[in-house]
Amino acid sequence: MDRMLEIQQMLTDTLSHADHTPAIVDEELWDKANANATGRDFRKFHYLFKGKVWCDSCGCECEHTSTTKSNGITYLYYRCPTCHTYMNESRIIHFIGDSLDDMVRTHYIYEDLRKPKKRYQLVSDEMRELIYGYSYRSLDEDYYRKMMEIYSEEKKELEETISKRKQEIQNMIFFSQSADEQKAMIRAYIDHINVDYMMNTVEPIYTSEYERIQKYVF
Ligand SMILES: [Zn+2]
Repeated sequence: MDRMLEIQQMLTDTLSHADHTPAIVDEELWDKANANATGRDFRKFHYLFKGKVWCDSCGCECEHTSTTKSNGITYLYYRCPTCHTYMNESRIIHFIGDSLDDMVRTHYIYEDLRKPKKRYQLVSDEMRELIYGYSYRSLDEDYYRKMMEIYSEEKKELEETISKRKQEIQNMIFFSQSADEQKAMIRAYIDHINVDYMMNTVEPIYTSEYERIQKYVF
């Protein structure tokens, strides 16, 4: 028997015994089986800003709705349940695309450059201390030279590491990230997105976590 058919059969059995058997159905399995049964994945439209879009006019959280045209292309919308206004997802992306790219770069600058940057600062401080010690406190010359050499070497390596990674990060864009990464970043860094349907404006409101990591951008 085909694997998906097996899963479907299993689900049918589980559900038909739901009254007396606790139905422990893995959600992902359920979605897969359903997608297979109906030929399309009806509840798995990937709303990028799921639960994040708010109507600026009335302050309501927008609902998710979609339409599939005869050419097979599906359009995703965020709809205000009170004002009955719609905004296409791609329109929101058009408005905040640059902010999303910035978000990705900020994320990686924080994740990948924070530690080497901190170390770089520490090494620079140590070198300054050594120079001071050598100039004013008759620090042993051999020791001074040896330490300066070690620190200079490390500083050079750190500079190279930082500048190489920084270059890579500058070339990153939001849509070069995997779907999971996109979702994770939106979840962590965007509190919500205010959409003003009348004024045709879209404004992302960031989380405090995002404000925190933004301090590391240099
Ligand atoms: Zn509204």
